Amino acid sequence: MIDNASIESLKNNIDIVDVIGNFIELRKAGANYKANCPFHGEKTPSFVVSPSKQIYHCFGCGVGGDSIKFVMELEKLSYPESIEKLASMYNFSLSYSKGSSDYSDAKRVLETIQTWYVKNLENNDTAKQYLLSRGVSQNSIEHFGIGYVPEGASVMHFLNATLLPMPKAMEAGIIAQGENGGFYARLVERITFPIFSASGSVVGFGGRTISNHPAKYINSPQTKLFNKSRLLYGYNLAKESIYKNKKLIVCEGYLDVVMFHQAGFTEAVASMGTALTPEHLPLLRKGEPKVILAYDGDKAGVAAALKAAQMLAIANFDGGVVLFPDGQDPADLIAKGESEAVAKLLREAKPLIPFVLEKLIYSYDLNDPRAKEAAFGTARQFLEGLSQIIKDAYIPMAATLLGVAPALFGGQTQPSRARESFSQRKDDIAQLSILKTLLEKPELIDSVLDVIDVNMFGGYAGLFSALINGESEQPQVRSLAVDESLQVMNEEELQSVLRNFLIRHYDIKLKDIVADRDMPFSKKSFLIRKIKADIIPRLKKGELVVYETNW
Ligand code: ZN
Repeated sequence: MIDNASIESLKNNIDIVDVIGNFIELRKAGANYKANCPFHGEKTPSFVVSPSKQIYHCFGCGVGGDSIKFVMELEKLSYPESIEKLASMYNFSLSYSKGSSDYSDAKRVLETIQTWYVKNLENNDTAKQYLLSRGVSQNSIEHFGIGYVPEGASVMHFLNATLLPMPKAMEAGIIAQGENGGFYARLVERITFPIFSASGSVVGFGGRTISNHPAKYINSPQTKLFNKSRLLYGYNLAKESIYKNKKLIVCEGYLDVVMFHQAGFTEAVASMGTALTPEHLPLLRKGEPKVILAYDGDKAGVAAALKAAQMLAIANFDGGVVLFPDGQDPADLIAKGESEAVAKLLREAKPLIPFVLEKLIYSYDLNDPRAKEAAFGTARQFLEGLSQIIKDAYIPMAATLLGVAPALFGGQTQPSRARESFSQRKDDIAQLSILKTLLEKPELIDSVLDVIDVNMFGGYAGLFSALINGESEQPQVRSLAVDESLQVMNEEELQSVLRNFLIRHYDIKLKDIVADRDMPFSKKSFLIRKIKADIIPRLKKGELVVYETNW
C-alpha cells in the first residue's frame, strides 16, 4: 500500500497543467487552459484545465477530476497505478506501508531480461550475422542495446533461475498465459530492440525474426508501463538532437532508426507497429522541432505518409515528407554507404501542405468533372482545418492543381465557432452566478435556501442540489468550478441578484395564475393582488421575500 502522506506530498508537487500537458496539447485561454477533449472526438476544444483549482473538466462529455483521475482515465489504470505512474514521471519517491511496488517489480523484470537479451546476442552468430549484413555496426548494437531472445524454453528457464516472479513477467509483457494455464514466452528466436520510455527506462521490446517466422516484427503487448501509441522508438536517444537541431525525423522501422543514427541523423525516431496518431503529437511537439516524415515510397508508405502529413499540418506543425524511391528504405541506402544521398533527400523534403494537396488532388481523375468535384471537396475540407492565414496562403496552389478559380474556395466559409460554455447563454447568467457564488462561498447557502426553492433553477436544479450536497465530483459542479467567466458575488450583490431572480419568478407565476382555468376566481384574485400589491413592491424595496411554492 502506498503511504497516504506520500500521496498527498506527490499531489502537492505536481501541477495539473504540466501533467495533462504531457499527454495532450494545452492552449492558454484566459486563466485556464483548453484542449480538444482526449475522451471524446471533437474539433473545437471544450476540455478545460484550471490551474487554480487543479482540476480538468470537459464541457462536451462531462468527464473531469484531478491529475490522478486524468491519468487513471486516459491510461486505464487503477488509482494506485496512476499514483505510481505520476511518481515515476516526476521522479518522486513514494513510500509504502507494506510490501513493495508492483511497478518496480515489473521494471526489474524488464531490466534483467534486457541484460540477458544483450548477452545472448554475443553468443548467437546467426543473429549477429544478420545485423552485420544489414550494415549495423557493433557500436550501434551497443548504443541501442540490441539483443537476442532464444527459444521459449530458455526464456522460461532464465526466469525460473533468476527467481523473477511469473505474474510480474506477465505484467511486463515478457510472457503470456496459455489456454491450459501454463506460461509461454511471447518473443522467441528474435533480434530484440529494447523500447525505452521518454525518461529512459525499458518498457517493452520489438523483435525481428531470424527464423523466417511469418510475422517479421512483433512488439511487446500494451502494458501498464508500455503505451505503444504514445511512445516513439529511439526517442530517448534522439531527444537531445531534437531539442538542439529543432528537427525530428519519423521513419517506419527499428532498423531505419538505428541506421539513421549510425549515419549521423540522430534525430530519427519511429512509431511502433502503428501509424502516427494524434496521441503522438505531444511528444512530437516537445522542443518545437520541424518534423520530417521519411517513409518508403511503396503504396503503404505513401498512404501512411499522407495520413500523417495531414494530421501534422492540421496540428500546425512545420515539416515535410520524403518518400524513398524504388522500394528502398533508408536503412538500405545508408548500409550501401549512400548517406549523402539520404541527406540530400532529407534536405529536399516536400513541405507538408503541398504534399497533402498534391496527393489528395492527384488521386482523382481530374478529366472527369464528377471526380474533379470530389477532389475539390476533399481539398477544401483539408484546407478548412488549417488556420485562416495558412489556408489563404495555400488556396492558389490548390486551385492551380485542380484547374479551378481560387475564388471557388473563397469567402463563404464559416469561422468555426467554439463550443459555448454554458455561462455564455445570457439568460442563464443570473442563475449561474448565484450558483457560482454559492460554490465559492458555501457559507451563504443557508440564507439562499431560506428564500428560494431548488426547483426555481429549472435546468440547473440538479446542479443546485449537487452543490447543496457538496458533490464536488458532479460534472456540472465541476464545470461551474472551472468557469472563470462567472463572477463570484459578495453578499450584497448576491441579495440584489436574488431579488431580481424572485421578481422574475413572480412575474412568471402571475402569468400562470391568470392562465389557470381550474383555479377558483376568489383564489385567483387574492393571489394576483398579493403578488402585485405586496410581494413585488417589498422585493423592489430591498426585502428578500420567501418564495411561495405551495399555491
Ligand atoms: Zn470530452
